[in-house]
Amino acid sequence: MVAETELYDLLGISPNASQSDIRKAYRKQAISCHPDKNPNDPAASDKFQKISNAYEVLSDETSRESYDNFGTADNSHAGPPMDDFMNSFFFDLNRPPPAPKAKDQVVDFDVTLEDLYNGKSVHFAIEKDVICKLCSGSGGKKGAKPQTCGRCSGKGHVLSSRQLGPGLIAQMPTPCPACEGEGVKIKDKSKCRKCEGHKTTKAKKKISFDIKKGMVDGQRIRLQGEGDEVPGAKPASLVFRLRTKKHDTFRVSGYDLAINIKLTLLEALSGFEKIICHHLDGRTVKVSVPQGRVIQPNETLCLRDQGMPLSRGFGDLYVQCEVEMPSGYWMKLQDRNALAKLLPNPDPKNAIQEGEKTENVKYETSSMSNFGRTHAPPPNDFDDDGPSTQCTTQ
Ligand SMILES: [Zn+2]
Ligand SMILES: [Zn+2]
Repeated sequence: MVAETELYDLLGISPNASQSDIRKAYRKQAISCHPDKNPNDPAASDKFQKISNAYEVLSDETSRESYDNFGTADNSHAGPPMDDFMNSFFFDLNRPPPAPKAKDQVVDFDVTLEDLYNGKSVHFAIEKDVICKLCSGSGGKKGAKPQTCGRCSGKGHVLSSRQLGPGLIAQMPTPCPACEGEGVKIKDKSKCRKCEGHKTTKAKKKISFDIKKGMVDGQRIRLQGEGDEVPGAKPASLVFRLRTKKHDTFRVSGYDLAINIKLTLLEALSGFEKIICHHLDGRTVKVSVPQGRVIQPNETLCLRDQGMPLSRGFGDLYVQCEVEMPSGYWMKLQDRNALAKLLPNPDPKNAIQEGEKTENVKYETSSMSNFGRTHAPPPNDFDDDGPSTQCTTQ
């Protein structure tokens, strides 16, 4: 069940369409709606844009999943596929090169569970590309005129051969290496002395953002316009993707937390009151199990609302109880009869019946990691007359 179907409807496909269906549907729609093919329809450009957006979201599995779940998509990481795809259909060799598009930059940002539980303000400095202040991004000295690139004659691209399959070679346009796809070049002696013709320089910038309570692993925080600046394009966003570091005490799944605690045999049998953890906000969490309640080995207790914060409320904390038995020969020092009087009697079903034939078998201490080490010999071949009795001796 998906939250929204608008993007699927735009492409005329169902929400369980495969990537190949999505590609085919987009191609069909994009060709029929392309503004170049509909010069007299003012709505064509708008519709074409909508179809392109739908493809951009649905062709990336991560943004598609987000759209399916929430009806919106964070497709900041979905990068060039649509452009590449479009170029292969609509590249008009006589059209000037498209204006550069600044791409969002996605950076992983490590956080602790404490950060996600309590929230945190982060401040630090980044280094980014900014438009050169001396030449305002022209790359040239004052009055310097860019020259048409001789290699691509100003088109910004050159044709290169690409093998698409056996015996199938296509001429594909690729950005001109001499002018980096711009169609024009500035002569070395006219280049801006600050940026040396690169149009941008590096600059340190202080940034800050909040990790809010209730944020989760993988969540993205977008800083609009804080990405690298590119001349002639809107500044890109800088996107931080939260990555939760492993915690020494807590495991996390969704908004729930889990810990393991150790109980002595006495605590498991007779109840306890003990500190089971220091929580992510520093609180000391105590649990009381009343006398009379026996905890089984590996039994799980759930502490409601002690998990990670949600926008409203909290997840739960699962406490898995390990029961520590006394060590190997502890019983040697104890009065067995006194203990037997206290502990439950063995199940009479397991008692040896009178006259029952038994075999005394010795044991060794072992581990289940050894289980399966004994391999059966390969099965015999059987002929029509029954099992083979042929033996070889050496
Ligand atoms: Zn060129
Ligand atoms: Zn400059």
